[in-house]
Amino acid sequence: MMKTIYGVIGDPVAHSLSPIIHNAAFEALGMDCIYHAFLVKSGHLHEAVNGARYLGFGGLNVTIPHKEAVLRMIEADDMAQDIGAVNTIDLKNMRGYNTDGLGALDSLHDNGIDVANKRVLVLGAGGAARAVIYAMVTNGAAVTIANRTEEKSADLAAYMRSFGTVFGTGLDELRKKVEISDIIINTTSVGMHPNTDTLITRDMLRSDQVVFDLVYRPLETQMLKEARSAGAMVIDGITMLVRQGARSFKIWTGVEPPLDVMERSARNAL
Ligand code: NAP
Repeated sequence: MMKTIYGVIGDPVAHSLSPIIHNAAFEALGMDCIYHAFLVKSGHLHEAVNGARYLGFGGLNVTIPHKEAVLRMIEADDMAQDIGAVNTIDLKNMRGYNTDGLGALDSLHDNGIDVANKRVLVLGAGGAARAVIYAMVTNGAAVTIANRTEEKSADLAAYMRSFGTVFGTGLDELRKKVEISDIIINTTSVGMHPNTDTLITRDMLRSDQVVFDLVYRPLETQMLKEARSAGAMVIDGITMLVRQGARSFKIWTGVEPPLDVMERSARNAL
């Protein structure tokens, strides 16, 4: 029997932690599978996906810059279509999924947080924000988007309003927006290594709030440091990375992967 191959396609992709978490799960389960990162330039998406399919790969993760383009070449489920991006392809049936939103939701649930009727402030209006906002509003949260480019925030809010309660704003008066929020989620790349900035500081926060940062390099971003010192609950980007990965794993293999093994491997790698 030959190993079944899985992988992530993107550009850049060299520093992806996905091979580490999936290979750790395959090993723990004794599955004869291997997961690689594949650099695929933006003009070569079709060749790469079809190549993987006909080479008999088990499945793919899709990352920047292919998440949106892949929607046009496979049959995506309703959630991926509504989000407007695919991060997981099941090559057996050429179906696409998006596990980012549910990965974010799982991260909150696993920390004892139900988002229904909560006020959630989402910083950013890019690709990750789309998945996170969709998961929040379809599970009953009221979302305020705060984005540097206010027009993008307004456009995304207008689109997401067909799924729930969403307001679009800029980054002005952030203090007031934080004050009225139960959960603050950073989906911007602010704070990502080597940048050490933060949009939220300790003096803006309270201990009854939750601060969730999607950025996972470094593991503890400046925003999470500020939140921790204010006594708020903090959730880091690895928590989500592992949970979106676990959902992809389940889609491809039908097997529930060991979350603790995946999480430990990612934290060790960082
Ligand atoms: P993206 O589509 O490029 O969006 C980037 C967002 O960051 C935009 O809203 C952008 O605002 C904002 N931004 C960038 N620099 C900024 C600055 N200096 N000040 C204020 N806002 C700034 O990127 P993405 O794919 O959504 O990814 C965003 C982050 O999430 C990355 O760090 C990525 O690694 C992380 N992520 C983590 C996970 C996970 O599982 N943990 C999953 C997905 C993504 P403008 O619109 O004004 O440009």
